[in-house]
This record gives sequence, structure tokens and C-alpha cells, in this order.
Amino acid sequence: MTLSTPTLNPPIRTLLGPGPSDIHPRVLQAIGKNTVGHLDPYYLQLMDNSQKMLRALFRTENRMTFSVSATGSAGMEATVVNLIEPGDSMIVCVNGVFGARMCDVAERAGAKVTKVERPWGEVFTPDDLKDALAQAKPKVVGIVMAETSTGAWQPIEEISQLVHDSGAMLLVDAVTALGGVPVEVDKWGIDAIYSGTQKCLSCPPGLAPVSFNDRAMASILSRKTKVQSWYLDVTMLASYWGSDRVYHHTAPINMSYALYEALQVIHEEGLDRCFARHMLNHQALKAGLSALGIEYAAQEGHQLPMLNAVRVPEGVDDARVRGDLLNRFGIEIGSGLGAFKGKVWRIGLMGYGSRAANVLLFLSALEQLLAEQGYKFDHGASIAAATARYSESR
Ligand SMILES: *Cc1c(COP(=O)(O)O)cnc(C)c1O
Repeated sequence: MTLSTPTLNPPIRTLLGPGPSDIHPRVLQAIGKNTVGHLDPYYLQLMDNSQKMLRALFRTENRMTFSVSATGSAGMEATVVNLIEPGDSMIVCVNGVFGARMCDVAERAGAKVTKVERPWGEVFTPDDLKDALAQAKPKVVGIVMAETSTGAWQPIEEISQLVHDSGAMLLVDAVTALGGVPVEVDKWGIDAIYSGTQKCLSCPPGLAPVSFNDRAMASILSRKTKVQSWYLDVTMLASYWGSDRVYHHTAPINMSYALYEALQVIHEEGLDRCFARHMLNHQALKAGLSALGIEYAAQEGHQLPMLNAVRVPEGVDDARVRGDLLNRFGIEIGSGLGAFKGKVWRIGLMGYGSRAANVLLFLSALEQLLAEQGYKFDHGASIAAATARYSESR
């Protein structure tokens, strides 16, 4: 066969966007290890150990903690379609793209959805939910902890209390949160939660860690209708992940190696140190951007360390800066989505990507591009401000 297709040769990038993030070198190597069967004793042991590490990361004892074989959106779908039966009432908190996606998923699953909204960049307080809880009497309340479209960091604990007082279950999107900021499933009483591998876990996209507590599982086991999705039915997945080991689907073996290694990397560093590193690099970046007069899009006090959504300065060409960053410096950052299209840059400092070297590289490249576009600022000020923040922490 003589199809003339180019040799596979992906360019080397620095991925500082909203995901995927740069893969840890140990994780990339893990993917290339020998494939075993999905029922091989070696693989079954690896599943058990992955579950142990996932529980530690989610800070939960939930038995039903595992990874769905698909991306973060499948984690969203898996949690929603298992908890919701057609006709059930669900509240979804929407302050960005991913809350809106959860509404769509819930409606397709047959939920009667009540949307509670906040402006993009802001977070919800318990007061925002009180009336809707009283009126909709929902079975489930869905909320996004780290809204990747706005950079807003949603506090969960107080809302969880209120949701439980109303008798509902709490479903949390932790796709971008997990591995970057503390996520306390048991302490906060989260009933179901999902994440993804390509944000702060620094794995390729392809798996969605999820966890269901006993209350969520009891609700699923007492459903009157079958779960609408065969592939995502947790009662069937439980037979594969549990001691029965009933074949369900062929697990993506080598991606499971990647996740395993990524979880080892995080636990070797230690969760507290990992979260502190994300915070320090965020603070250094923020100091640098502030020195250039660049402002954050999310509410002060609720800005995510791993996703820095900032306003494109007046007179600067959004697409040209992003294009030049990619083509001349090999740096990928994200554009604004939806309401923030053309107005916001999203700079990710996720997992392995959250490093001083990346912060300083990005700021110096940005200064050069801003200078070329005639934007007025104090040259070198961003580097000075960022390095000052690093010096303080030594
Ligand atoms: C990325 C993301 C998703 C979707 O995950 P995919 O892996 O792209 O399917 C869902 N929610 C949030 C908050 C995200 O950042």
C-alpha cells in the first residue's frame, strides 16, 4: 500500500490552556508499557490499586470509586443518567459553559431541569439556591466546582449542607478541580462526583474518575426504570470493578496505566504540597499579569489557581496573540467561550504544567507580543512581579 501520508510527528507544545495539560513524562512512558488483558490478574490488581489512590485523591471511603472509560463529559453523563429517572426534578447551577452542558445532559436523561443562574465569573451562595430548592424539590442538585470557562472557584461545603437539608443529593463536577485544589468528598457530603484525566492529573484525555456514595448507590439500586445508557450503567460497571469481575467492556488498558502512574506522581508529591504548588504558581502569574494591567474575569476571592481566565486588554488582538504564542513560542492558551468569546484568555497551570518555568516563559512571551501590538506597559514588570512572589516563598 502506498498511501503517501506524513510521518507522525506532533510538534512540541507547552500546553497552558484549559486542557489537555502537559503530560508528565512518567505518565507518557507508562502508556507504552506492555498491554495485558482486561481480566488479567495483573490488571485486576492494578484496578484495585487505582481505586485506592482515587479514593485518597477524592478523600472518600466510597466503595464505588472508579474510572469511566471515556472523557470528563462521560463522567458527567454517567453520574446524571444513573441518578436521574425520567420525570425526576433536578436543579443545575449555571454560571458558565459546563453548568449549561449539565443542563443539556440532564434534560436528555428526562429530568425536569430547573436552571439557577449567576453571571459568568461569579459563584453561587446558599441564598441563590433557597427559593429554587423550595419550589423544585429536586432529587439532585448539580454544580461545577471549577468552572473552566470562567476560572471561578465554587465553594461546595455550605451549599452541600443546604442541599441535604432539603433532602436532595449533591452532584459535583470536579473535572478541573481534582488534583489542583482540595476536593473533600466525604467531609463535604458530596453524593456523586466526576472528573477527567487531562486537566490537573496531567494524563491524556480518555478516563473519567467518578465516585458515588452509599446514598447515591441506594437510590440507583432502587430505580424503577433501567439506566438509559447501557455503557454507563454503574450497576453493571460495579460487577466489573467489584469482586465479581464480570466482563462489561474492554477497559482501555494503557490509559489505565497512565492514570495509575499519574496518581502515583500526585501521591508521591503529597496532596497538600501539590495544592500549595498550584496556588504559588497562580499567585506568581497573577502578580505578573497585574503588573501588565491585566485583570481576572472571575470574582475576587474565588479565582481558581489552575485556570486563570483574564480579560484581553483594550486594543490588543486576541486571536493574534494566541496565534503568535502557539506559532512562535509553542505555547497554547485557551480562548474565551460563549459570553467570553474574544474577551478572555484562559491560562491553565494544571498538574505538571503548574511550574515556575512555565509562568516565566509565558509572561516573557506575552510581554514581547504585547509590545509588538503597541500595548503600553512597563517592560520586564511582569517578570519582576512574578519572581518577587517566588522569592517571598523561599
Ligand atoms: C473539561 C471539562 C469537562 C469536559 O471534559 P471532557 O474531558 O472535555 O469531556 C467538564 N467539566 C469541566 C468543568 C471541564 O473543565
